[in-house]
Amino acid sequence: MTPGVQPLIAGNWKMHGTLAEAKALAGAVAAGAGAGAGLLVAPPFPFLPAVAAALAGSPVALGAQDCHAAPKGAHTGDVAAAMLREVGATHVILGHSERRADHGETDAVVQAKAAAAMAAGLIPIVCVGESEAQRLAGEAEAVVRGQLAGSLPPAFAAAGGIIAYEPVWAIGTGKVATPQQAQEVHALIRALLGSLASAAVAGKIRIQYGGSVKPDNAADLAAQPDIDGALVGGASLKADDFLGIAKAFG
Ligand code: PEP
Repeated sequence: MTPGVQPLIAGNWKMHGTLAEAKALAGAVAAGAGAGAGLLVAPPFPFLPAVAAALAGSPVALGAQDCHAAPKGAHTGDVAAAMLREVGATHVILGHSERRADHGETDAVVQAKAAAAMAAGLIPIVCVGESEAQRLAGEAEAVVRGQLAGSLPPAFAAAGGIIAYEPVWAIGTGKVATPQQAQEVHALIRALLGSLASAAVAGKIRIQYGGSVKPDNAADLAAQPDIDGALVGGASLKADDFLGIAKAFG
């Protein structure tokens, strides 16, 4: 972890659960939140207000899983960043590999969304990461380099933007990157950020790892110098597992 930077553990609930389950999960996370790592949960859009209420008075932050690049308009089915802010979100996950795959989101789209999020006062968590074929072809670094160059708007670093390195082959597969594999890419990301912002700012940017993080592999990841938290899918749906990951980073 980067010295002087509070790690952040973000739970991406994706399209899971009922309203009752979301409220109960948020309540359990809020009740178990400790003083160490920061915590954030990102429920499906319709559950945001109820989860905000369940988190009220706790240190757990609220995030959304996407936003539109436009501030308003004729975009059926989409949600503007300011709307998310209005219901209590402080962060938004952007460019997740599932959105890049399911919705054809390009780096340029992610960049525009991140700019919109920042304009509305949200902190973007921008996801990057290579596929298995790309890693096997030795292209992991080039892919991440290209995604970063294309997906980050100007002033991303100064606005407190967060990067999540999520190798696609590790998401939901149980195949976690080794701490060394993750650290190598995190160090590369840190160096690239240094070319976009001052070294002092780049040195404080949180770079989360995502991909099959569980309580039993979190401590080894947390021990790496450039891993500043985790973006967690499956394990964020069980409060004990999510809090166990936070403890490993805390
Ligand atoms: C994710 O979807 O962002 C993710 C990291 O999922 P999982 O933890 O289930 O691999």
